[in-house]
Amino acid sequence: MNSHSQWNGQFSCFDLVARTCDRSSSVVQVGDVEIGGGEFVVMAGPCAVESERQLLETAYAVAGAGARLLRGGAYKPRSSPYAFQGLGVEGLKILRRAREETGLAIVTEVMSEDEVDVVAEYADLMQVGTRSMENYALLEALGRCGRPVLLKRGMTATLVELMRSAQVIAMNGNPDIILCERGIRTFETATRNTLDIAAVPVLKTVSHLPVIVDPSHAAGVRCLVPVLARAAAVVDADGLLVEVHPTPEKALSDGIQSLTFGEFHNMMDDLQPYLALREEARQPRPQLLRVGGAD
Ligand code: PEP
Ligand code: MN
Repeated sequence: MNSHSQWNGQFSCFDLVARTCDRSSSVVQVGDVEIGGGEFVVMAGPCAVESERQLLETAYAVAGAGARLLRGGAYKPRSSPYAFQGLGVEGLKILRRAREETGLAIVTEVMSEDEVDVVAEYADLMQVGTRSMENYALLEALGRCGRPVLLKRGMTATLVELMRSAQVIAMNGNPDIILCERGIRTFETATRNTLDIAAVPVLKTVSHLPVIVDPSHAAGVRCLVPVLARAAAVVDADGLLVEVHPTPEKALSDGIQSLTFGEFHNMMDDLQPYLALREEARQPRPQLLRVGGAD
């Protein structure tokens, strides 16, 4: 039994998102960027949009280092009710301005079905956060939103549950879904979450959807982000979602795990040899010619 048929029983019921003989991989178009088409697509920006200046500075910095999408939350699901909750529509307007100035496509979170229409007006890619992965009213509304969806794995969700949520979006009419491994809750406390790196090859075996990795929320500390990003490149993820801030020590959310501009630039440089290696591994190998004789 190969690994695909071993998992098939659990995953094949999610027929719209499962990998089949006819459909081994799909490409999701976000603005002019293709995700799942071979390019390692990096989405980067602050956890939350805090001001126009903060976002524009970050947008120029990450674009200059090779990011293709700008991230930034306008609606923030926070663990504490006392923490910064985001700028709302004002944040969405700032994101739009950043797209106009830099040409970067925008990925931003939507937390409730009531906000789907307004977020879809401004976003190129609709992010479902870890706390919302099983909000079926939201998933159903995203099925009808006309924008691609970035579906993050729930922090206590199995891969079957992640695939089930993807199926709900697809069943409601939206096939353009990207899966995101962002770390799961385990008994380990040294990191904020535990990056389940095996989730990437499992998902790519059982699903045709693109899979990206968020090393920032997995690690919870910035020093681990570049090495986890490297791991994502090596296991053939289709890209990354990374938090970057002009002054992480002053960030209103997730500063401890956010990279400075310089650190982000270095991370992108550091990834290049790993991306080149995986490109090389994908090239068809020349057939070895057997020249006479027995083995
Ligand atoms: C985020 O991307 O800032 C975020 C809140 O992520 P998650 O839902 O994975 O915690
Ligand atoms: Mn965050």
